[in-house]
Amino acid sequence: MQIKNHYLKKAYAWLLPFTCVLCSHPSFANQDLCDPCLQALPRLEEGCIRCAIPLSIKGSLCGQCLQKNPPFDVTHALYSYELPITKLILELKFNHTLFNARLLGELLAIEIRQNWYKNKPLPDLIIPIPLHAARLKERGFNQALELARPIAHYLKRPLEIKHCHRTKLTSPQSTLLAAERQKNVRDAFDVSRNFTGLHVAVIDDVITTGNTMTEFCKVLKQQGVKQIDAWCCAKVK
Ligand SMILES: [Zn+2]
Ligand SMILES: [Zn+2]
Repeated sequence: MQIKNHYLKKAYAWLLPFTCVLCSHPSFANQDLCDPCLQALPRLEEGCIRCAIPLSIKGSLCGQCLQKNPPFDVTHALYSYELPITKLILELKFNHTLFNARLLGELLAIEIRQNWYKNKPLPDLIIPIPLHAARLKERGFNQALELARPIAHYLKRPLEIKHCHRTKLTSPQSTLLAAERQKNVRDAFDVSRNFTGLHVAVIDDVITTGNTMTEFCKVLKQQGVKQIDAWCCAKVK
């Protein structure tokens, strides 16, 4: 049933509260996650300002970033890649639970607005890490794009999806040894737009070793991007 009247819609939501995707209890938090489950999500502690790797000293750089600067300027990661975040992301990717992308995207948007960019200018545009056409056909959607949609909507920032492509069909990074991962994504991306002077945010669902993000951001930098902020829903510790 489609309810057009705004007040009726609100009343209907009150009569039929949201249901928590994790515990199935009614949620009164105006979203599909109840407050206790939301509070229990594994938030990632602040780490290296450039790559988000856990560090004991806040606001500093890790040894690897000190040795070699990655092509992105900052990484913001909301959660640690552990249960129940793993469940939500795996359901999204492999069971087509697109609903989870909306929920996680909304949680990211709140964090971006209220915390990460509280007193800082937001990026000019948002770029989801592209998925190869064959993978897109197989899965039916790009999970990074589905996460980015609610964020772009809430922040009122455009999404860039036309000019960035993954041209090499890579093996899933999770199936490879650390040493093979860098080679796997080398020359995997093509960007056909000039981004001179722009501040962009690149979003992925999960950052594991950071090789995919690094490779894509290298290509963006070659196209003149001034600043790249890497955003992800979850980071593997
Ligand atoms: Zn719950
Ligand atoms: Zn680092």
